[in-house]
Amino acid sequence: MKQSEAFLQCQSCKKILFSIDFDQNLRVCTYCGHHHRISAETRIKWTFDEDSFEELDTDLRSGNPLEFPDYIDKLRLAEEKTQKFDSMTVGRAKLAEMPVSIAVADFSFMGGSMGSVNGEKVTRALERGVKEKCPVIIFCASGGARMQEGLLSLMQMAKTTAAVQQCREAGIPYIAVFTDPTMAGVLASYASVADVIIAEPKALVGFAGARVSKQAGVSKVPDDFQTAEFCLKHGMIDTIVPRKEMRSVLISLVKTLGGHLFVEGGAK
Ligand SMILES: [Zn+2]
Repeated sequence: MKQSEAFLQCQSCKKILFSIDFDQNLRVCTYCGHHHRISAETRIKWTFDEDSFEELDTDLRSGNPLEFPDYIDKLRLAEEKTQKFDSMTVGRAKLAEMPVSIAVADFSFMGGSMGSVNGEKVTRALERGVKEKCPVIIFCASGGARMQEGLLSLMQMAKTTAAVQQCREAGIPYIAVFTDPTMAGVLASYASVADVIIAEPKALVGFAGARVSKQAGVSKVPDDFQTAEFCLKHGMIDTIVPRKEMRSVLISLVKTLGGHLFVEGGAK
């Protein structure tokens, strides 16, 4: 996003927007409705009850188990840029006083890629839901598995999916929200096996990206291929919810799924 102090340019329609209007509209373009990417902190602030978020598992750090060249440097750069140690932020929060276990991804940290820390945090968020008997909400934003951790990254797909199964067996509701982009290893693991799947408008959702698909010999795809709208049309997701309505939709959904039963001390 090109940005001066008072103005910025929409990434989609390229129109100039007032920064104040843009923020008031939850970083959605007032002209074309494009949902710009936001940080995990901003999303938590705009979605959950004020001051209800308690961040957990902040001590987890990625190593370089495969001694992948420059990986540590890239991690340090990402840490400096985002002031966090991983693309996933997890913890306890409340939605209209109902306790929830949450995991919120941030694309700005190495493309939201899922390495061993990311997968461990997602797993713990799901396990916390089971242990504390509260619904789990995960906001996804990822280009896929983190290639620098090789097989250890891919292993997170099985680990997180097994944790979703634990939720299912315990009767704990799990809601996934696909934000732009939700791709590859994340889509093919914990994201697509949620009880309810919501997406933000026009979010990129898919397994192999357009370039890889082309390399694999797929020459023709529909214009709206790998968009939230395409997924909805073909039954991959349950609904598309604009950012402005996300909090109220999640509240009614959590209530419908029984989250209100845990208001009185059920969470801890
Ligand atoms: Zn726009």
